[in-house]
Amino acid sequence: MKFGGTSMAGSERIRRVANIVRRQQAAGHEVAVVVSAMAGETDRLVGFCREANPLYDPAEYDVVVASGEQVTAGLLALTLQALGCKARSWLGWQLPIHTDNVHAKARIEGIDAQALLTSMAAGEIAVIPGFQGLSDHGRITTLGRGGSDTSAVAVAAGIGADRCDIYTDVDGVYTTDPRIVAKARKLKYVTYEEMLELASVGSKVLQTRSVSLAMKEGVRVQVLSSFIDDDATPADEIPGTLIVSDEELARLTENVDMERQLITGIAADKNEAKIILTRVPDRPGAVATIFGPLAGANINVDMIIQNVGRDKGETDVTFTVPSADLLRAQTLLEAQKEAIGYNRIITDGKVAKISVVGVGMKSHAGVAATMFRAMADRGINIQAISTSEIKVSVLIDEDETELAVRVLHSAYGMDAEGEAA
Ligand code: ADP
Ligand code: ASP
Ligand code: MG
Repeated sequence: MKFGGTSMAGSERIRRVANIVRRQQAAGHEVAVVVSAMAGETDRLVGFCREANPLYDPAEYDVVVASGEQVTAGLLALTLQALGCKARSWLGWQLPIHTDNVHAKARIEGIDAQALLTSMAAGEIAVIPGFQGLSDHGRITTLGRGGSDTSAVAVAAGIGADRCDIYTDVDGVYTTDPRIVAKARKLKYVTYEEMLELASVGSKVLQTRSVSLAMKEGVRVQVLSSFIDDDATPADEIPGTLIVSDEELARLTENVDMERQLITGIAADKNEAKIILTRVPDRPGAVATIFGPLAGANINVDMIIQNVGRDKGETDVTFTVPSADLLRAQTLLEAQKEAIGYNRIITDGKVAKISVVGVGMKSHAGVAATMFRAMADRGINIQAISTSEIKVSVLIDEDETELAVRVLHSAYGMDAEGEAA
């Protein structure tokens, strides 16, 4: 079971969480619980790091931001004990959860689950702070924002859990963020592939890496709400959204008469920033000198456009990076100005990426055309485009995000009543 930041925000909510956990144990399950920091806490800690040093050392950043989860893990163990349950916390370095050395976005390499299994078999509820791990240099690492989902899936895989229930503040995965589009529909099932693509383009209901890990390890993941009454449908009856393989989906929906939607979902991501380098020499190796140093600094570049060369053998190169990395990227590129040979660097943090996702695209033409037409009709300007086999993304002005998502949700006929499958 994993509980997110909103579910853990304050003693009252932690008591509700403890009750949900206790009920699962009473239903006969052995339970491991992964928790997030209280909502807003990680942002607050990141703020302190920025104030201390804008170009902070990621290793020390990890020491600071991992602390939020330590607090909630201890508090949940205490609250469970107050309810008469046996419980104890297991910090990332105690298990340990082994990660690589890439601070602030570390990858889990393995979990020593034996001690956990022994304690769980003895009836003790294991409470594990999400988001944190231990590098092979013996230092605390964190897994990137939203990383507790990945911790939960990794623990589930490590102990061979039947299911990984991700409790949050919405009761499942919807066709788009239900906080933006009131007419969003709850999905009963989503395949790993679809969820992976949705998460990677901004449906932050699950961290992308948690989905790829679940897919790789075959962990069945359910997204469901922690804001429930005592008489709510039990988690074992799958009241939320189940994320499963294509094969399991086929099995589950065998007797259900349904046509899979062409589009599974729409996502928005405001956490990207645009960088334009003007008048880059139009010759072999030019883009390599731009993107090499960014890769070396672990900055992920997403959309890339290289315009058709201007006269005099020059071209403009436009691309996006995570907003959190914009300052570092800019500093790096400015240091490389001579080597790259560009004229000006222009940055814009006020952009959003809107994406439509669906496996149906593989076999249907016209998905992108519908998108561009719908946006044009509302006067929304498209600054960049990228596509994959099951996704089309466009970059627009951040102020138009909500409008664009609503317009597209209607344009693909997703506003209808009832539940989709
Ligand atoms: P937690 O703190 O529990 O990890 P998050 O804020 O990370 O919660 O994720 C839950 C939020 O994800 C919801 O409140 C919702 O606004 C947002 N969200 C974005 N896209 C979707 C979607 N397609 N379906 C459901 N929720 C979504
Ligand atoms: N607390 C961390 C964050 O806010 C990890 C998580 O909640 O998943 O990013
Ligand atoms: Mg989250």
